[in-house]
Amino acid sequence: MGLRHKTVALIVAAGSGTRAGGELPKQYARVAGKTVLAHAIDHLLHSAIDEVRAVIGPGQNALYQEAVAGRELPPPFMGGETRQQSVRNGLEALSDAGWERVLIHDAARPFLPSSVIDRLLQALEESDGAVPVLPVVDSLAAVTSEGLGDATDRDRLGRVQTPQAFNFDAILEAHRRSGAEVGASDDAQVARAAGYKVATVSGDMMLEKLTFSEDFARAEQRLSGSLVTRTGLGFDVHALADGEELWLGGLLIPHHRGLKGHSDADVALHALTDALLGAVGAGDIGTHFPPTDPRWRGAPSSRFLEFARDLIEGHGGRIDHVDLTIICEAPKIGPHRAAMRDRIAALLQVPISRVSVKATTTERLGFTGRGEGIAAQAAATIRMPEDR
Ligand code: MG
Repeated sequence: MGLRHKTVALIVAAGSGTRAGGELPKQYARVAGKTVLAHAIDHLLHSAIDEVRAVIGPGQNALYQEAVAGRELPPPFMGGETRQQSVRNGLEALSDAGWERVLIHDAARPFLPSSVIDRLLQALEESDGAVPVLPVVDSLAAVTSEGLGDATDRDRLGRVQTPQAFNFDAILEAHRRSGAEVGASDDAQVARAAGYKVATVSGDMMLEKLTFSEDFARAEQRLSGSLVTRTGLGFDVHALADGEELWLGGLLIPHHRGLKGHSDADVALHALTDALLGAVGAGDIGTHFPPTDPRWRGAPSSRFLEFARDLIEGHGGRIDHVDLTIICEAPKIGPHRAAMRDRIAALLQVPISRVSVKATTTERLGFTGRGEGIAAQAAATIRMPEDR
């Protein structure tokens, strides 16, 4: 094992530029069910980076917290009036933590291949800074109100992307020296202006910045195309007993008996949770919430379902549909069906059209027929990124 450099990623999410037609800053817009910022952060969290910190704009804290919910991240830094000032704020805030290297990344570039990070960190071994660059393939020429002007030699030009990697002390010093007035287009130019050498590595088409609404549509399409459909099944039974509350499908239902169990015993949410966990291949409800653990005594089963939902999102997946069947003689499910669909859709953060709730009896046969308990079965259809 060689010496391990400590690397922090600073993700600049302070912009207020909106996706065309909206009011939401584009880093908080969603692509494939996840905010642009969260896509970028998740790629960094799954890379060789030790810590990920965001720089956000004034008034964006609520948006930020919602965008990164379910991830363990240290608090964000507050940005400044310009991108350069925002980066400076972030670097200053990190300056006492002893970081050796920093990756500075734009939140509007949500798809970050780990191979680019590897190339950058490799290049940083020999240089103060390193940036990903793509060749220019189109002809480049001046365009004026008169029409087409002179052509420029494109072989001398490259398209510079982020993340940009730097020796931490070097880029901090460069930013301090540049002050606010330089107006450099990116951190690599700030570093160069301060006399530091910046190496180039191959960029990646996946790193394209999302700027126009067509970019969002294309990103959505690309992500959908690389997802594969998976299904999962869940089944559960709980006994009915006197003196218990009846929690079913996330609702407290008035009934003279209730379901018995370690948690709130919501048999319907348990079957749904197992169906979702099954689709991811992540064990079952008992794997994650063992009944021997006193923490889950009387716990609302909505927590189990939300856990499964977050797990799928964490894998870059999305929930297409869930179908639930509740099996009992009583209570009647029909009057509660709409509220149950509402509640489950809210917990899963999907439109109600993706949630089906059905009910059946067993014609007075078996334990459900005798009213000794309630059974539930569920199927979940999700889409997940293809295994590499
Ligand atoms: Mg159960």
